[in-house]
Parts: sequence; structure tokens; C-alpha cells
Amino acid sequence: MAEQRSGKAMLEDYRLEDWLRCPYRYARKRASDRRADRLHWRQLAQYAISHTVNGFYQLPVQSRKREAINRLLEGRWTNKVDSFESATQYEHVKALLKVRLYQLLLGRKSFDGINGDPIIAFERFETYVQPLGTTLSVIFHSVFGEADGRELVIRKYTVNADRDISEAFRHLVTVFGYYAFGRVPSRIEVHALLDGTVQCWQPDAAAVCASVDYLRLLLSFEMDEGGIRKSGDAAECRTCPLRGDCLAEGARSSVEEVSPTCMPGIVM
Ligand code: SF4
Repeated sequence: MAEQRSGKAMLEDYRLEDWLRCPYRYARKRASDRRADRLHWRQLAQYAISHTVNGFYQLPVQSRKREAINRLLEGRWTNKVDSFESATQYEHVKALLKVRLYQLLLGRKSFDGINGDPIIAFERFETYVQPLGTTLSVIFHSVFGEADGRELVIRKYTVNADRDISEAFRHLVTVFGYYAFGRVPSRIEVHALLDGTVQCWQPDAAAVCASVDYLRLLLSFEMDEGGIRKSGDAAECRTCPLRGDCLAEGARSSVEEVSPTCMPGIVM
């Protein structure tokens, strides 16, 4: 699964997400099927969320108001209405995201006691993990830390909740934190804005081994599982340009044969 880059193996979080979301579409993308590259509305919404949150934390504290969130989101909001399921859904997603961003950024000063600005915002980091023989690459959305060094809270913002992707993220950043920062995060949060849900983990040092094992197993899979489609993700499939193809190739039965509990959190 790791990409070879300049002779070294690299596991990148965004490729992993792509693969977990749908191995079939991922494989078609790698085979240069241009339809598989067409942006999904979720990606367009994710782009707007990320820039809005990042822009918000760059503002002086006194400017962090609803109007600023509106302006930031509108400034990054797509005009590709056709990528959405309908014009109504296009408007609905934007309106709901605004409300969720108000709650997240202006509500309780933060989830469970973290105040202040992130110490890392939308930055990509790499670290080599010797037991895996692989470099991990992660884009950190927000990392909050306390001056006393006791808290290291890693927060990710997504459009929808996806159990497989959240699980993979949890293991990835647990291992990353241990090898890059010398400690596991005190808390990992995944905020799914459209769903209004928060998944939260508090790993300890003992979790590192399990997370390394998880990643090792993941790395043993080939990422060209072109005959396997992700099941049960209707929102992802409704506007997918490959919808007819993946069903026509009998991929549905492949999933039923293989999935989903041979590995916790992974749909193969
Ligand atoms: S329709 Fe769904 S299962 Fe089929 S390729 Fe697209 S995302 Fe994958």
C-alpha cells in the first residue's frame, strides 16, 4: 500500500483515505480513468471546511465572529452545483456547514477544555517508523497543546463520519505521535461536521503496539484491489461517475465474499 517515492516507502494519509473510501474507484484512478478523478461534492465541501477553519484561527481573536466564518466559507465555497446531488442539496450542505462551524469554532471554547489557538494548523509532517520500514505522511488539521506539555490534542475535521477512515486516522496519528513527537496524543478527535458527530480516543503508550500492528497489516494489502467496492456508503456512490461500472463488474458479490470483519475497521 505504501507509495514508492524517491526510493523510499511512504504511507500518505490522503491516499489511505481514498483507498478506504472505495478501493475500486482508487484503482481506476491509478489506472488513469479520468472519470474516477472527477471531484465529489464531499471533496469540495472538505476544501471549504479546511480553509475556513484555517482562516478562522489566523484572525485576531476579536474578529472571530459569525460574519468572519460566513465570509471565509463563502470565499471557498464551490460553484460546481452539478457535482452535488441537486441544487437543493448544494444549498443545504453549505447552510448546515455554517451552523456546524459556528458551533465548533464559536461555541464552547473548545471541545472538552482545550482553549487557545492550535500550535499546528493544516501542516503536513513526515516521520520514519522503523518497525514498519515506512515513512508516514500526515496532514494535521489542528493540533492543540498546553504549555505544561501534558495535553496534545489532535483534531481532524471531516464532512461525514466514516468509521473505517476514522479508525485508520486514529492508528496513524497514534504511531505518528509516538515516533515524531516522542509521545502519543492525549486525545484524538474526529469532527464530522455534516453529521454533527465527534469521535474521540485517548490512547496510551500501550496502544502504540496495536496501532503499529494495524498499520503493518494495512501495508500488507495491495492498493490495486480493483474488483472490490466499498459497501454501504450510499452518499459516496450516488454521484459517483463509476457507479454503473463497479456494479456491472460484479464487485458487489466480491464485497459480500470478503467483507467486513476480517480486520477491525477495514472494509476490504
Ligand atoms: S459507485 Fe460507489 S462503490 Fe462504485 S466506484 Fe463509485 S464509490 Fe465505489
